[in-house]
Amino acid sequence: MNNFIFLGPPGAGKGSLAVKVAADYNIPHISTGDIFRANIKNQTELGKKVDAIIKSGGLVSDEITCELVKDRLSQDDAKNGFILDGFPRTIPQAEMFTAICPDVKVVNFEIADEIVIKRLSTRRVCKACGANFNILTLPPKVEGVCDKCEGELFQRDDDKQESILHRMDVYREQTEPLINFYKEKGDITDLDAAIETSELMGIFKDKFPM
Ligand code: AMP
Repeated sequence: MNNFIFLGPPGAGKGSLAVKVAADYNIPHISTGDIFRANIKNQTELGKKVDAIIKSGGLVSDEITCELVKDRLSQDDAKNGFILDGFPRTIPQAEMFTAICPDVKVVNFEIADEIVIKRLSTRRVCKACGANFNILTLPPKVEGVCDKCEGELFQRDDDKQESILHRMDVYREQTEPLINFYKEKGDITDLDAAIETSELMGIFKDKFPM
């Protein structure tokens, strides 16, 4: 079963690798951050509830997040596997998830803080389709314009310096303990995430043959 959890700090490249793995393994890429942002954009009740907390770089409550994930995983496309990107992020989320889905492969993205800070502060995202670019390492063909849909590129509020540092603290305090949580369970694979996504994809395929 291809049930993957991508674990690692913000800016580790989880989302970029997940896009490629989803396409090759034919499983959905489920990013809780993307789902929250879509709700904010569409001004749903959920979006209004989580907007300020996400801008500040804090975490949405476990209750709201777990409900959202349960609901998303109940959809048909997740029946034969999935990639969870950005979930679980706390021990209670991981405990809840183990209870509903014990069979999971955890991929731990290892990366130095300096690289994370650089990657996040130079990241740009398409307002329309959510595609990610980087003004240094993956610039769009036309500055400020998405290659895929010609949407406008912008910098996420939580990719600004103050929020980045806060998100890294939150990661260290609340999410990093999950590495030991899963190590004790046994099924966790470390990946050196400092390398390019295409190279990382080669390593991923070797470790997790289809
Ligand atoms: P991401 O796109 O994964 O960096 O997530 C962006 C923001 O969404 C995070 O900084 C949190 O505010 C919120 N978020 C995403 N996933 C979770 C989660 N599993 N638990 C709590 N908050 C989350």
